[in-house]
Amino acid sequence: MADISSIAAALSGLKTAIDIAKALKESDSLLEKAELKYKLAEMITSLADAKIAMVESQELIQNKDKEIEKLKEIFKISGKLERYAYVYYSTDDAGKKIGDPFCSYCYESKQDLIHVVQDPSKRRNFVCPACKTETDWHTLS
Ligand SMILES: [Zn+2]
Repeated sequence: MADISSIAAALSGLKTAIDIAKALKESDSLLEKAELKYKLAEMITSLADAKIAMVESQELIQNKDKEIEKLKEIFKISGKLERYAYVYYSTDDAGKKIGDPFCSYCYESKQDLIHVVQDPSKRRNFVCPACKTETDWHTLS
């Protein structure tokens, strides 16, 4: 799982590679071929580690972008949500319920807006497809 330490790992790998490159450039004496190969291998390893860490960082940023988009959407709708019985409804400017109801458990616990659906096995119930909370449709009508 990517986390913010991926960025620090990438920076550390790049710094190591840069330090090795500087040391090679500033070296007065001619390096033995074996020593040069060793230093280059060390630099390649540092660059590869940095690349992996950058990929992890990219994944982290993409996941955060998705979460921000989800929260923006919820923020936009939440001002127009009204709890009714065991669900939430979107309301229009006049306060009239619009659309299908959302699961109150998912909204209140995870800020997820999940529409409840009719339970195919118990037709008189609505069920949340995410958390499986059931609601008697009589309480919604
Ligand atoms: Zn739910």
